[in-house]
Amino acid sequence: MRAIEKIIIHCSATPEGRHVSVADITAWHKKRGFRTIGYHFVIYLDGSIHKGRDISEIGAHVEGKNSNSIGICYIGGLDSNGKPKDTRTYGQKSAIMKLVSQLKERFPNSEVLGHRDYSPDKNGNGIIEEWEWLKACPCFDVKKEF
Ligand SMILES: [Zn+2]
Repeated sequence: MRAIEKIIIHCSATPEGRHVSVADITAWHKKRGFRTIGYHFVIYLDGSIHKGRDISEIGAHVEGKNSNSIGICYIGGLDSNGKPKDTRTYGQKSAIMKLVSQLKERFPNSEVLGHRDYSPDKNGNGIIEEWEWLKACPCFDVKKEF
């Protein structure tokens, strides 16, 4: 098993309430030239947890940060107008909690972050602020919840 230091949360950047499957994301990622789905886990609207890439394999979800991380993607992240929104259902919130705590047990030194926390700190103040985000993904403040 590779060393895991980071658990990184994503959203699928799809409208609130629209079902998207592991097969759909796999097809999108293949179109982008990935071998298969880039995430290790996908959390459906109903809170069910689905396997993507095996965690023993390096994922493809944050540029430059894939080698020592696990990527989790919840379905949603946009409102009906395509604007970033925390659309997590109750089931998705508890599934993220459950999955992250299982992974933390297995990889106790890993930190939990959101994709947007990897945006560049343009003014160098040590905080990744909203105006610096490259992407809104995963549309909630991961560090506040973990
Ligand atoms: Zn992302």
